[in-house]
Amino acid sequence: MSIKDIIGNANSKKIMLSNVRDKKHGTAYIMLGEETIGKNFAARQFIKAFNCLNPAADSDCCDVCVNCKLIDKTLGELDEQGFQVNPHPDLCYVNTEKAQLTKEVVQEAIENLNTYKAIQLRKKAVIIQDADRMNESAANSILKVLEEPHKDVIIILIVNNIDSQMHTIVSRCRRIELQRASIAEIEKATGRIKPLWTGLEVKEAASFSDGKIGDSLRYIEVKQQFKDAAAIFSAVSGRKDNVETIFDAIKRVEELHREEKEKEKKLKKKGIARLFLLDIIKILSYIYRDYMLEKLGVKSVLRSRYGISSADVRDYTPVKISAILKIIERSCRDVEGNANVSVLFTNLLFQIRKEGLS
Ligand SMILES: [Zn+2]
Repeated sequence: MSIKDIIGNANSKKIMLSNVRDKKHGTAYIMLGEETIGKNFAARQFIKAFNCLNPAADSDCCDVCVNCKLIDKTLGELDEQGFQVNPHPDLCYVNTEKAQLTKEVVQEAIENLNTYKAIQLRKKAVIIQDADRMNESAANSILKVLEEPHKDVIIILIVNNIDSQMHTIVSRCRRIELQRASIAEIEKATGRIKPLWTGLEVKEAASFSDGKIGDSLRYIEVKQQFKDAAAIFSAVSGRKDNVETIFDAIKRVEELHREEKEKEKKLKKKGIARLFLLDIIKILSYIYRDYMLEKLGVKSVLRSRYGISSADVRDYTPVKISAILKIIERSCRDVEGNANVSVLFTNLLFQIRKEGLS
């Protein structure tokens, strides 16, 4: 894989390649973009291009020389918790299982890289995963390094939200921003990366991804959640007016959320439970989006998945559906704001029900 394999994002790829060509390239970069959009992958290809022994005419990496292979092995093979399993003195991947990335973790990585001459690579590199989670003292120690850059060390901060960074850091980094790709581009890439998936699975995955490759690739994992979401949905759908079933659905979400929390503890991996809630809500929004498509006379890919009869759609006008979609969208923000699960879903389902009955 190389920079050209980054999906979509033609402009950002151009910026990366021109930095690789430029003798006065930056030494610090912010790789910015939404979760699961492919920032780590892009950062790795970027570092490969800086170090490739046999680059293409446009400066992209060859993917097969010893340096390209070393970087893929060292920065690409991570354990379940997202930690480096193949350390190398020229390359450092900084991650933490804690809620905050502390100064000690960041400093250790940077000191090592700054002290020694590169053993094999031309440009040593440090990737700081989840730079959004740096606490103030960690950010300050990064800032110190950025103020006295080392020309043979490249630092890449992986950032979901630019507002999480101090402006003094932002102003010292070059910014590479990744945008969502088109569904067609995602479908093509997913088919290539997952050759064993059926055509239908690839199509569904791309549709689920909303343009984020990471979401497309974990589609098979979340398939079960479609069933859960459909069950939750059935509590508020159609002309059913049974408050009991809504409370049962909320209980079910709480139960599943608890299971995800357990998994989070066991794997020492933050964010699994939150991602689960977002998935459920996202799938709910798909169901209503499919309703809309049905109303417009378009047969959707996902529709067959829920076992929802056309009779259920009859009472929903496009206006009603778009009102419900807005309610669902708002609840995504509540998940980000760490609202209580029970309160969040009680609000969400009763609001949907109210809109549905109106
Ligand atoms: Zn190479």
